[in-house]
Amino acid sequence: MTLTRFAAHPEQTRGRKVVEQESPTRNVFQRDRDRIIHSTAFRRLEYKTQVFVNHEGDLFRTRLTHSIEVAQLTRGIARTLGLHEDLAEAIALAHDLGHTPFGHAGQDALNECMRDFGGFEHNLQSLRVVDLLENRYASFDGLNLTFEVREGILKHCSQKNAKQLGDVGERFLRKESPSLEAQVTNFADEIAYNNHDVDDGLRSGLITMQQLSDIQLFAENMAEVKHLYGEIEEKRLIHETVRRMINVLVVDLCEQSQQAITKLNPATIDQVRKAPYLVGFSQAIADKNLELKQFLRTHLYQHYKVNRMSAKARRIIEELFSAFMQSPKLMPDEHQLAAKQDQARAVADYIAGMTDRYAIREHKRLFSVEENW
Ligand code: MG
Repeated sequence: MTLTRFAAHPEQTRGRKVVEQESPTRNVFQRDRDRIIHSTAFRRLEYKTQVFVNHEGDLFRTRLTHSIEVAQLTRGIARTLGLHEDLAEAIALAHDLGHTPFGHAGQDALNECMRDFGGFEHNLQSLRVVDLLENRYASFDGLNLTFEVREGILKHCSQKNAKQLGDVGERFLRKESPSLEAQVTNFADEIAYNNHDVDDGLRSGLITMQQLSDIQLFAENMAEVKHLYGEIEEKRLIHETVRRMINVLVVDLCEQSQQAITKLNPATIDQVRKAPYLVGFSQAIADKNLELKQFLRTHLYQHYKVNRMSAKARRIIEELFSAFMQSPKLMPDEHQLAAKQDQARAVADYIAGMTDRYAIREHKRLFSVEENW
């Protein structure tokens, strides 16, 4: 598939904050993707929770495997629609860089701690990581990524924050859309987590096939597998069902989005930006997807065993936050230095950057006398 007129074209990028000599072998979006993969924040994703805390089992998704699955789906959809695969992949790999340890429980706890200091939002934090917090390049802070990747990372944003964010904030003030590559990544994220959470949920035993047989998207695809293969091992039945669910969602998304794009027939990426979201599911699939999502919320994300882990996570984050707010001198040097500018934000940045196991260890080091520094 060739690149369409309305895709992002690397030679027409709105550019980087700091002008650089570009690579002779890689386009700007490839280069951004490579910088993301080489970042410290990317490596930390391996030890951050998706739903299950990292030490609960080796087979569950982590933020890293989730991000790779999102990138894989995003590339496939981008290729089908004639969009720029490298841009789509870069956005997908960076979309969760700002996540705290312990998944949503961690983010909610940190947001609560930051209530009087401007709050905490993982999506905004992902942008902060690539714009500011990675600090390994000699001539700039952050990764100095192109506008298009940064635009794609910032999925949502309040009007107040948008005013402070400059170029990437403007579209929220003008109520415009991001590139199609960014729109695709949002949906790929959702397709990835709904389906891998079904898989992980079943593996953990927190949800059952019995419960899922009431959910239309699951039931229809499981019926097809049973029809084709008869009685098969449960492990194969689950995988065959989940891969069909992903396929149904991806095919519908591609068809619906293609129709919307053909109808508008945008000549450039800027016409895409001025139009409402063009990427989306058909109503029938959107309804089935929502049913699955609501099922997961009730039966998996709010399962009492997940709630217990979330409660512990919340306590760890709250106690780390108050200890560092009372005494920033307990933080490693570089974070103490940042705290001189804005203490609460420096503490939030330090905590948000922690992996699950680092946060657990740091908590022990601060609160247990048996533990060394
Ligand atoms: Mg995600």
